[in-house]
Amino acid sequence: MKRNKRIVLLVIFILLFATVVAVSVHILLLGFDTIKFGGILRFLLFYCSIRSIDFFQIISYNIFNNLLIFNSMNTLYIGFMGKGNCGKGTQAKLLAEKYNLQMISTGNLLREWVLKSSDGFWGKRINADIDKGILIPSAIVFHLWFSKLLTLDDKQGIVFEGSPRMLIEAQAMEEVFKWMGNNKFIVFNLDISDVESLKRSNLRRYCPKCHKTYSLAFDPGLTHCKDDNTELIIRDDDKPEVIQKRIQEFNEDVVPTMNFLREKGVLKDINGIGPVEEIFNNIDKVIKENI
Ligand SMILES: [Zn+2]
Repeated sequence: MKRNKRIVLLVIFILLFATVVAVSVHILLLGFDTIKFGGILRFLLFYCSIRSIDFFQIISYNIFNNLLIFNSMNTLYIGFMGKGNCGKGTQAKLLAEKYNLQMISTGNLLREWVLKSSDGFWGKRINADIDKGILIPSAIVFHLWFSKLLTLDDKQGIVFEGSPRMLIEAQAMEEVFKWMGNNKFIVFNLDISDVESLKRSNLRRYCPKCHKTYSLAFDPGLTHCKDDNTELIIRDDDKPEVIQKRIQEFNEDVVPTMNFLREKGVLKDINGIGPVEEIFNNIDKVIKENI
């Protein structure tokens, strides 16, 4: 009886050990992305791998690996930070058009992911966090960036709209770009007050199809998207209590990130109050000084 028990335990141990070895060898030889065990296990493995191996090493390797497609030290890498409704989406888009840059909007990537897996565990969890105004963990943000970076064409650079937010994101970007010898990494902070952020959120409308945002301050009474005629909605994360929470998170999590980037000489503060063209000209002036 005792002997049989020992044999069963030994067999279970050997099976577990073999599984761990097989998965490890697979990751080492073929890379993590080739694992197709399903979303949750894949994410858990991703999370474990960044916890057990040096966090920066993995992030830097992945970002650099994907940025190699741009293959230039003169590539522009622009970040846009600021409180909710500071106008960073509008300005990032204008800049991307003028300088032929790819735009990566972390917020839109998260929303697209939620739409794709709205019934899945992670989709639901992220959707709930966005609605509550809670910042999504950097590990997930990086994961979305990697996937997006792989799909980009060769352009003159990238605009990260709404990023970096967490300190670790800014540190990873700063470290990689410096190592690449790139000195074209600029992050803009579109500065508005807490009251202005709340005021603007009340007037904001969103197209769920093309992600375009409108302000009723400029388009009074607008109900449908001008581009695709989709009915506009008020996003849950534009509700006053959520905006309040986002402002609190901003002061706790994003302000230290801005201080880090300011110390490194990367952050440029721009007044976010005024006509769109005027703000864009101020941003453009900084770009021209740096290229
Ligand atoms: Zn639209």
